[in-house]
Amino acid sequence: MAYRTLQAVVLARSEWRENDRILTLVGPETGRVDVLCRGCRKPNSPLMGSAELFTLGEYVLFSGKGREIVHACTVIESFYPLRLDYDRLAYASFVAGTALRAFQPEEPNPHLFILLVRSLKRLAYGYVPPDAAVCAFLLHLSAITGFKPRLNHCVRCGREMLGEGGYLPAEEGGVCCASCGKDMQKRLWISSRELDFLRIVLARGIEKAGDPPDHVPLLVMKEYVQSKIEAKLPDLPEEEKRDPRF
Ligand SMILES: [Zn+2]
Repeated sequence: MAYRTLQAVVLARSEWRENDRILTLVGPETGRVDVLCRGCRKPNSPLMGSAELFTLGEYVLFSGKGREIVHACTVIESFYPLRLDYDRLAYASFVAGTALRAFQPEEPNPHLFILLVRSLKRLAYGYVPPDAAVCAFLLHLSAITGFKPRLNHCVRCGREMLGEGGYLPAEEGGVCCASCGKDMQKRLWISSRELDFLRIVLARGIEKAGDPPDHVPLLVMKEYVQSKIEAKLPDLPEEEKRDPRF
């Protein structure tokens, strides 16, 4: 089949020759696909908008010599407000870079695709603070990839943990109470309020989770996902200043 149509988001792009770009698209049924977008850097090119980062579109591809080429595209959503706010743009870039590592070439992953689109929408239009939205993204990503952390009982002693903080060591797949984890690194500590936030987000989703705590365990979740999917994730905005525990 020479042509195929797919719904996809642009997660990476690089300049190619004088007026072209190579785009990395991810789609629910196709996983990750690299395509050539010809002429998209020319002024007035009809493909200009479809070759921008984060664009969600209906892409028509045809198979050229050894690679697929964008024939046409209908842009569904450009997430334009991301381009107006540096902070939200930086978080969206982290989401894109992380999703890029989780999608596999030509491997369907409809749940991850839905999570990606919803997370970009939240960052572009949502009232949820961007760090909380990205923390929720990482938590759901861990569940989708088969590594949902156990958050209610200590992974070592099995005791129910309510109203208390705990450690989240990735290799043990869930929280560990203060006494079982007393030798663990302090940077893996999650406060009681943060742990409640993660539980509610996992059960009901971030929109129904109420106001997030002032601090969300973003770095702990990043380290958890990084270890589980065995890929180094991009830096978070101002990562080095983010948390005094690190
Ligand atoms: Zn314990």
